[in-house]
Amino acid sequence: MSLASRIIEEDSRYLMQSFSRWYPLVIERAKGSLVYDVDGKEYIDMNAGIGVMALGHGNEKIIRAVQEQMNKFFHYSLTDFYYDLAVRVARKLVSLVGFQGKVFYANSGTESVEASLKIARGHTGRQYIIGFTNSFHGRTFGSMSFTSSKSVQRSAFSPLLPSTLLVPYPDRHNPLCREDCANAVLEYIEDWVLKKIVDPNDVAGFLLEPIQGEGGIIVPPREFLQGLQRIARKNGILLILDEVQTGIGRTGKMFAFEHFGVEPDLICLAKALGGGLPLGAVVGRSEVMDLPRGSHANTFGGNALALAAAEVVLEEVPGLLGRVNSLGKMIVDILGSTKSRYVEEIRGMGLMIGVDLRRDGEPYEEGLEKVLRRSFERGVLAIGAGESVVRLLPPLVIEEELAQRGSSIIREEIDRL
Ligand code: PMP
Repeated sequence: MSLASRIIEEDSRYLMQSFSRWYPLVIERAKGSLVYDVDGKEYIDMNAGIGVMALGHGNEKIIRAVQEQMNKFFHYSLTDFYYDLAVRVARKLVSLVGFQGKVFYANSGTESVEASLKIARGHTGRQYIIGFTNSFHGRTFGSMSFTSSKSVQRSAFSPLLPSTLLVPYPDRHNPLCREDCANAVLEYIEDWVLKKIVDPNDVAGFLLEPIQGEGGIIVPPREFLQGLQRIARKNGILLILDEVQTGIGRTGKMFAFEHFGVEPDLICLAKALGGGLPLGAVVGRSEVMDLPRGSHANTFGGNALALAAAEVVLEEVPGLLGRVNSLGKMIVDILGSTKSRYVEEIRGMGLMIGVDLRRDGEPYEEGLEKVLRRSFERGVLAIGAGESVVRLLPPLVIEEELAQRGSSIIREEIDRL
């Protein structure tokens, strides 16, 4: 029995198996944009630990910063004490979002979303939050109540949070989207939901991903986010953007909202923020973050080691945005040269790219599984999104040659279908 097979067998014995993996990678170590398995085989990382390792694996600056912090202190808890690192990273985050803001630290994406929901209710004194179909916001009860990208993620766990609504996301496969997608959805929200279903004065926030990640790399029309912001402002509803996957340079701007000409009230972050250590954050307008009632806190949020890594990430990522855009274009061109009749669309922004595989207009799930598994066998790591979308989220620092080789192999495997 190979080492990998033994570990996989023991994994099934000792770990809860409530999700399935795309292929049997058993990682041993990783450096830059290369991953090595326990049998010594090398892989090109087009996945980055699901959009986390923006600066690649084993980044020397992160290692040094975390080691220095380890020699000072690991953890002390911001709930009752202060430290300068927490202030420095918050100040940097606020300067990057570009508006007068404040920061709340969490440890993961779902906790950032939970915090944003509490802040929205606590600030407005209103109950309802409106989310969007096909979204992914996490798997704790609050965020799960807005997660609908796959029914297994929520169906067994009801009742979910009360006072929540889901409205359509402007995806062109949505029946509302036959013609003018943005306006059709906006009209539905303004003229139906906020007139007939819920009083806008009871709505605390709209919660959505500026580009849906888990749902299949769905990029909404620019006018949609602008229109939603207009409806939000008119009704005193907060615009909460979940940038857990899109934030920190992934889309070629520091935050995806910058592509759409909107200014959110609350932004949820995690994934790449901590450079591979668990860190989440909510960045919000100062006036929204000062809660007139209630309190929210946690033990580990803003852990000093995670913040030491984040300080490096926030220093380095702005300088990478140019290459994120050019590498993204290169990868899209390589994938776009496919001859496959199963590629319905290649979409995304920067280094957040999806290839939608469809057969006779329907999601081609077996096609996705084959492409991912065969690419893995040829030494390339990618994962899926939506029902049948090949999702690429490589490290933002990936070398051009590796990105070229990785995406060519994926294209060849799509062609082979
Ligand atoms: N929001 C979005 C947009 C995400 O993509 C994810 C994770 N895929 C989450 C929230 C949840 O993050 P976590 O798994 O860290 O809780």
